[in-house]
Amino acid sequence: MPDHVVIFDTTLRDGEQSPGASLNTAEKLEIAHALELLKVDVIEAGFPITSPDDFEAVNRVAKEVRGSTVCGLARAVERDIVRAAEALEPAKRPRIHVFVATSPIHREHQLRKSKSEVLKMAVEGVTRARSFVEDVEFSPMDASRTEPDYLAEVVAAAIDAGAATVNIPDTVGYAIPDAYAELIASLFESVGNIGKAVISVHCHNDLGLAVSNSLAAVKAGARQVECSVNGLGERAGNAALEEVVMALRTRRDHFGIDTRVVTNRLTATSHLVATLTGISVQRNKAVVGENAFAHESGIHQDGILKERTTYEIMNPDDVGAQASKLVLGKHSGRHALRSSVEEMGFTLDEKQLDDLFARFKVLADKKKEIYDDDLAAIVEEELTTTPDLFELLSFHISSGNTLVPTATVRIRKCETGETECDAATGDGPVDAIYNCVNRITGIESKLVDYRIRAVTVGRDAQGEVSLRLDSGGVKANGRAVSTDILEASARAYVRAVNRVAAGLHGQRSAAQ
Ligand SMILES: [Zn+2]
Repeated sequence: MPDHVVIFDTTLRDGEQSPGASLNTAEKLEIAHALELLKVDVIEAGFPITSPDDFEAVNRVAKEVRGSTVCGLARAVERDIVRAAEALEPAKRPRIHVFVATSPIHREHQLRKSKSEVLKMAVEGVTRARSFVEDVEFSPMDASRTEPDYLAEVVAAAIDAGAATVNIPDTVGYAIPDAYAELIASLFESVGNIGKAVISVHCHNDLGLAVSNSLAAVKAGARQVECSVNGLGERAGNAALEEVVMALRTRRDHFGIDTRVVTNRLTATSHLVATLTGISVQRNKAVVGENAFAHESGIHQDGILKERTTYEIMNPDDVGAQASKLVLGKHSGRHALRSSVEEMGFTLDEKQLDDLFARFKVLADKKKEIYDDDLAAIVEEELTTTPDLFELLSFHISSGNTLVPTATVRIRKCETGETECDAATGDGPVDAIYNCVNRITGIESKLVDYRIRAVTVGRDAQGEVSLRLDSGGVKANGRAVSTDILEASARAYVRAVNRVAAGLHGQRSAAQ
């Protein structure tokens, strides 16, 4: 039994299945590096059989991540397991996660198999996965709606077949904390060989109970929690990693066990994931929301000034929630820039650092003080670069309350090298730019989401535009920052159009 609760992060697999979230390989790698710095025990990097992109992402994470176990998901069928094993081949510590649905609803309607056939699939799946790797996890999908005696039988058989971790997923978010804890406790009583495996939980948040259910299960003996940054995941999402970790840390008196997570990286990791997925976190989100440590009431503020613990159960420093720091100025050099971004947890190669330095110099001319949030915003933009088909060279706007807004845009088509310039009108300057980009690229798309926020304080702050396009069912996100919001709008749009064009976002099959 581990002496800590194993944190199994599924941001890159279940989290990436969130409607609206889609990550390319470079973005997944960046998140994987952040998870490694956070010291999560296991990173579930994807579901290799589902697409070549997923395979590639798991393979790259397996190559580059050294500090955490890297896991790939597979149904309990041969081709899935073989593909997961291939993707995980370069991993230092590979894990194959095999699953099959065990509940009557799934057996009858989805699998059309009997209890004994499903049991056989589980055993064969675990056995086959063990022929490739030592570390195999098994999940009876929809465990919380499976007959408890049959569940116990499947769990025992999976452990006998060599599963070192057995997960009891609440796939549909149906569980209630006390009953779920009883289910976990009953397995400890009825499964004879349970001491040979780590019992894990994987809770969905359909009733808002994912974190509560996970914690109740830990109290009942579970020693692995599957969770995701910001609670991303199918439908209402998974248990939020930051909440599980901080509940265990803050109430160690109650649980008597902790995790190995480096908690002061939680806020930065949350921010990175929000930026790259385009799914932002609500202000009042526990632990990592903007308001998580804000005190508005006079009585509370007075208490905090006299003694912080009067109204704060966690120290903001412990989750890395410090106010944005002034880091660099106009005269800062390449070396200072490098050490600042490294301190923030980013890994950049020389070429990326050169590009970043050029962006930084342009920004420093427009904006006297550069905060760490400014730097994070441009680093994250550099990291999300996709192979460009279209490059925005310049744009010009004429607009006003008595004019028809008109945009002139110049775009280079990278495949042919030719430059095209065109003009278009619109309902406003942003609309005019977007109409013009559509004309030049020939890609028609609908803007389904458009948001703008100030990265830091002050009138000279950078504006961050994040948007989402739908082009005949192909959806793509785009994001860009600039001190000029029209420039940020234009660049974010061209990025998203590039992603649509590259067809980066194929449909993914869902699991668990
Ligand atoms: Zn799930």
